[in-house]
Amino acid sequence: MKETMPNCARCPIKPDERICKQEGGKHPGNCPTVIRADLAAEVLKEYTRVENAEFAKQASLQERDGYSNRDLGYAKVRPTKPRIEEIIDFIGKMGYRKIGMAFCMGLRKEAQAVEGLFSSRGLEMVSAICKVGRASKEHIGLTAADHVGLCDFETMCNPILQAEVLNKENTEFNVLLGLCVGHDSLFLKYADAPCTVLAVKDRATGHNPLAAIYTLDSYYRALK
Ligand code: SF4
Repeated sequence: MKETMPNCARCPIKPDERICKQEGGKHPGNCPTVIRADLAAEVLKEYTRVENAEFAKQASLQERDGYSNRDLGYAKVRPTKPRIEEIIDFIGKMGYRKIGMAFCMGLRKEAQAVEGLFSSRGLEMVSAICKVGRASKEHIGLTAADHVGLCDFETMCNPILQAEVLNKENTEFNVLLGLCVGHDSLFLKYADAPCTVLAVKDRATGHNPLAAIYTLDSYYRALK
């Protein structure tokens, strides 16, 4: 079947030879760098908007700062920082002072540690747990049979309220910690401030979703 829609994940070209890495490089027929060239030019204008320009620049400087040994050449660079440190650095680069955190009750210990760390660096913290508001799962049409605990009342995760609680405090930047699949989507849909993710929820792997991807040919082969 001939592919017509962009699908970089299936690109057959060696990374260093791709047109998205070098002028005149190779590309497949459905390459978005080629067939969406007009769109690419249009999108570049977005980076000149005041709300994006500094953010995009600092994000790329953060990428740069994630490596050491750059003077030895690209093949010799090494990673330098865990994500939590990158987030702290990025907050500093952007000059943010008021930080929101939306977290899962299952990661409350981790949330407490992150809150303490950020606070110790002088940041003003606002945080909201997934169960905030104590609304019943009945509100989204669930019954006892759908409750994790099979009990009569179960508090629903309320990512829209998490976002609105942070919005009310005018947080400048939000950090997501352990929100479930789908709940994270709703939080991102409603949050006013730009967001980043410290960790996603993955109950089975200790919140390391790539563990299942790395073992897709072995222990998780049944997924294929
Ligand atoms: S942009 Fe083109 S060359 Fe680059 S990964 Fe996608 S398909 Fe391949």
